[in-house]
Amino acid sequence: MKLLRRTVLLHISLLIAALWSCKRDAQWEGQEPVKKVSTETVPIQLQYRGCFDLGAGIYMSNEFEGARLNGVARTNDTLITVLITAENSPINMSPWYAFKLWSDDPREIYIKLTYPKDASHRYHPKVSPDGMNWLALDSASFRVTMKLIEDEQTAKDLTMKLSVGPDTVWVAAQEIITSEQLDQWMSRLETRSYVKRDTIGISHEGRPVSLLKIGESDDQRMIMVISRQHPPEVPGFLAMQAFVETLCADTELAEAFRSKYNTYVVPMANPDGVYHGHWRHNRGGVDLNRDWEDFNQPETSAIRDFMMQLTRSTGGKFYFGVDFHSTQEDIYYTIGPELEGNMPGLVPELIEATAQEFPDYTPNIKPRSEKDARITSTAFLFFEFGAEALTYEIGDHTPRDFIQRKGKVSAMKLMELMLK
Ligand SMILES: [Zn+2]
Repeated sequence: MKLLRRTVLLHISLLIAALWSCKRDAQWEGQEPVKKVSTETVPIQLQYRGCFDLGAGIYMSNEFEGARLNGVARTNDTLITVLITAENSPINMSPWYAFKLWSDDPREIYIKLTYPKDASHRYHPKVSPDGMNWLALDSASFRVTMKLIEDEQTAKDLTMKLSVGPDTVWVAAQEIITSEQLDQWMSRLETRSYVKRDTIGISHEGRPVSLLKIGESDDQRMIMVISRQHPPEVPGFLAMQAFVETLCADTELAEAFRSKYNTYVVPMANPDGVYHGHWRHNRGGVDLNRDWEDFNQPETSAIRDFMMQLTRSTGGKFYFGVDFHSTQEDIYYTIGPELEGNMPGLVPELIEATAQEFPDYTPNIKPRSEKDARITSTAFLFFEFGAEALTYEIGDHTPRDFIQRKGKVSAMKLMELMLK
């Protein structure tokens, strides 16, 4: 009997090992081809913001920028059930949540995150004592409920165990990075003489679409950087920060680059979506990364108008453009290799040179196909300006120190290649 059990166990572990290696070898194929959709403004549902007294001395709040908490109830003495809903639908499945909680007395409680019937769980919880410093919640402290939906195991909800007390605990889908924090970051960079800051437009709700200009060249050669069209995609934003900081650095390479190329950065293309804790859309209820052909939204129009006006007034060219996002795993969406822009070969060379610095890392590259509609930022950067364009996607759970290093190395390799 003992022997039988041991054999069964051995088989199970071999099976797990085999499945695991399959999983690691198979590269994720990325998203389906992007399709044209209407980007006309549509209504969204705003969340009620407030501080919720749940009884038994427990409180929750969504009164802060980036919060998302659509409903909450104390189910029993130790369990709180939270409802997280999207701003409107149809929508990509990226359910963002963020709230804070505290209690009169120290205690352990369970919080169950629930979503509407057609939605699934995606982001595992991060916690913070101050809304600034974040840690991923230990995997032993939460459990995801899986359900078989249309033959696929789907994450339906998540229950986490937390220790709470009079000091506030912040809980969120990813690190919360608000426009206020963005402002501080830009102000720090702006202390350098070669960094200037501007506003190129305003969002539906009147928030600035901010721009950084890095460099001291004559605008004949330029690069464009975009980030945070999709509010929950914080890992992409973190990569963008490392990338931009490297372009601003006090190094010989960066200095040489800045004397030849000017870099323009829109670090938060969807400030209203970030404020409201949206899953994906802007205040107009639209996926901004489907609006780069029709330009029905103020945020995309602002970026287009800025780039058009700049190239028209200077006669300069954009040689490279990158838009930072995040998704299930790291992936690069590129323009088909048969299409040549202002610096042919730059993007494949950049990906290759970056990968060489990380021996255990195989880049996942997916060129956009003819089936893709030309409605994304990278299609716009390439087809309108000839900029060699790249969608730089970071995985939701990619370790933060790796994001930093990859963002930095990408910028260094880009500068080296573009100065060649
Ligand atoms: Zn995205």
